[in-house]
Amino acid sequence: MAKQAVHSLSVDLEDWFHVCGLKQQPCIPPDDWRVHRATEVLLDLFAEFGVKTTFFVLGCVAESDPELVRTIHRQGHEIASHGYSHRLVHELSSAEFVDELQKTEDVIMGITGSLPVGFRAPQWSATAHTPWFDDILAQRGYRYDSSRNPLPFIGDRNAARHPYRIETAHGALWEIPPMVSGSPLGNLPTGGGWGFRLFPFGLIAATVERYGRAGRPAVLYLHPREVDPQGPRLKLPLLKRFASYGTRRDGLPRLRRLLGSYTFTTLREMVDSWQSVS
Ligand SMILES: [Zn+2]
Repeated sequence: MAKQAVHSLSVDLEDWFHVCGLKQQPCIPPDDWRVHRATEVLLDLFAEFGVKTTFFVLGCVAESDPELVRTIHRQGHEIASHGYSHRLVHELSSAEFVDELQKTEDVIMGITGSLPVGFRAPQWSATAHTPWFDDILAQRGYRYDSSRNPLPFIGDRNAARHPYRIETAHGALWEIPPMVSGSPLGNLPTGGGWGFRLFPFGLIAATVERYGRAGRPAVLYLHPREVDPQGPRLKLPLLKRFASYGTRRDGLPRLRRLLGSYTFTTLREMVDSWQSVS
């Protein structure tokens, strides 16, 4: 397997009940939160392989567990923003979006002493209904975004598959889509979520290899709940339940194989390397 190409692994730092697209987030007592211990499993694995990753931190999680974010930061991982409340961006007004960003920036700044430069929207919810989205991020100093997924149904099937620059009135922003595998049925979500746990590992590895051979970074993502297969699940409609929790399969063994086979870095470092050659 090729080791030369540099890819990126990111974690959306949220709990098992932060399911996308719910009208209202459920109220779960703190004793039943599991994000802390599931994230420690991930951190141990990243340390074992000496891999630095990007954590898209949900503001409300950082606020309730600042020690967890401090630990992630101290271990050299990048702290980026996943918004505050996990509401979908296309359901927000531009003012509400700014408020989500501001609250999360304040919490992250209080913990790490610096502002995030990367953003990922819950459920790839930057769409044609959010024309202000890129401009607001650039204006606030964000250097990259990872909120558009070239998938049918939950993303935009026609969205780009590889990173590209967006020019806004407030400067450039890199858009970094997650990895997908092409198929006659459309792009498959092999880069993360249920697809990462369900599709054969060979397909995922072959896609990483293909990106690498083309000189493109494969951007993979996961959630702490995916290495916590015994964790609780919300009662959801069948399809949403599958997309959120999928099979009972544990993501950890395949994550371990990937970390042992390829080179990963943070999205921020990836963007830095592009800036230095442009
Ligand atoms: Zn999320």
